[in-house]
Amino acid sequence: MVANKEPLEILANAVSSREAIAHRDIIDDRIRCKHGQGCLDIECIGCPDDLIDAMREEYGAPSNFIEFSAPRAGNVFLDMAKTLANYDFRRRIGTAEVEMRPSGVAVAITPWNSNYGFICGKLSAAIAAGATMVIKPSEMSAIQTHVITECLHAAGLPEGVFNIVTGYGAVVGSALTAHHDVSKITFTGSTATGRSIVRSAAETMKRVTMELGGKSPSLILEDADLDVILPQVLAAGFLNSGQACIAGTRILAPFSKFEEIEARLQEAVKDFKVGNTKDKTVRIGPMVSQKQWDRVQYYIRLGQEEGASLLAGGEGRPEELSQGWFVRPTIFTGVNNNMRIAREEIFGPVLSLIRYRDEDEAVTIANDTDYGLQAQVFSSDISRARRVAGRIEAGRVILNGAPHEPLAPFGGFKQSGFGREFGVFGLEAFLEPRAVLG
Ligand code: NAD
Repeated sequence: MVANKEPLEILANAVSSREAIAHRDIIDDRIRCKHGQGCLDIECIGCPDDLIDAMREEYGAPSNFIEFSAPRAGNVFLDMAKTLANYDFRRRIGTAEVEMRPSGVAVAITPWNSNYGFICGKLSAAIAAGATMVIKPSEMSAIQTHVITECLHAAGLPEGVFNIVTGYGAVVGSALTAHHDVSKITFTGSTATGRSIVRSAAETMKRVTMELGGKSPSLILEDADLDVILPQVLAAGFLNSGQACIAGTRILAPFSKFEEIEARLQEAVKDFKVGNTKDKTVRIGPMVSQKQWDRVQYYIRLGQEEGASLLAGGEGRPEELSQGWFVRPTIFTGVNNNMRIAREEIFGPVLSLIRYRDEDEAVTIANDTDYGLQAQVFSSDISRARRVAGRIEAGRVILNGAPHEPLAPFGGFKQSGFGREFGVFGLEAFLEPRAVLG
């Protein structure tokens, strides 16, 4: 592991280790810890308490989000080991022998929200593929980066497998993503940044995985059990204080039950306590920065100017909090899907309640977005939920709040990105097929 050197010196380390890493025995060396060459069965993440503290201290992540993220940082390595153990790197297709070869040097660029989780997800796939990686974490994630660097260092990964370089995106990130020696970029962040990285990657035809923004619908079908699902709808909308790419920020409610859903949401939102997340009963922490707080306030004003009404929340801080970048959990009603509050990613606890007349209109509204990262469908009839899910344009559709499946692909349709992470799809994102005929 190399850190705190010049970016291009660090890149050179990944380049010079590339061949040695690529040629290690796939199963033995990439999965098992042996001779100090630990890989996917690392116990890195024998430091969950440090990871938990880092997320809480750095941006005030709420406990429920941390409790999901911290153990996952280690589990993604073990999950990737399972994928690798059953993966066929050589196969015969007709007269050809097809070999899946490592991508070479990969650059990973991560956002601040759950920074170490993204680092571990990307690094585990690179290790499994036999690629080396240079990681450029968010400049807003110094604490998470510090803790995860120490954990990974302690895990004793082979020299050159992972290399971390810190700095601003426009300076260090763009130097790495434009560099000739880099053949793969895996990026998680905003759609605007992703677009500029894709443009620069095109110069040298780098392989690119893009995990970008979202404006996910939570589609409530009229037979859904509101007692059960409305708390889930709000939890999905306010996930990570609303600062989550997958947050369910558009709530689609049927005409026949609209007033009832309005009244119940108004009541249920009171359970979402805002404040210092050291208090584990707090469900919504602060915005990551003043800039983000200002942006969220702007959208709350905009929603009112666009003609939506406040069902809950509004501008300013919650009454009991006189300082800190806290936002009142806000739900707009009377929202039309053409309003900017329904189309743009706000990245804060601001939800739009949108009325639909029938299932066809619900699906049309759900799909009428530039994004396509995730959607939720709620119904008491699972086969109906499945049928509706089949019509939704999103990389992941969750039925009735189903639990996470770590080996399933994750990634977006449309401007939420392209490529997939995790499981076999995540592994193949770092592989290049070569066919030998004859
Ligand atoms: P961001 O795009 O501002 O920054 C992400 C990373 O890109 C940072 O490390 C930054 O330094 C780097 N960067 C910035 N400009 C760059 C450039 N020109 N070249 C190379 N790198 C550059 O995003 P953010 O504010 O840190 O994170 C929030 C965004 O991330 C939201 O839009 C959210 O939806 C998205 N996100 C997506 C997923 C997903 O899996 N789809 C997950 C989490 C967050």
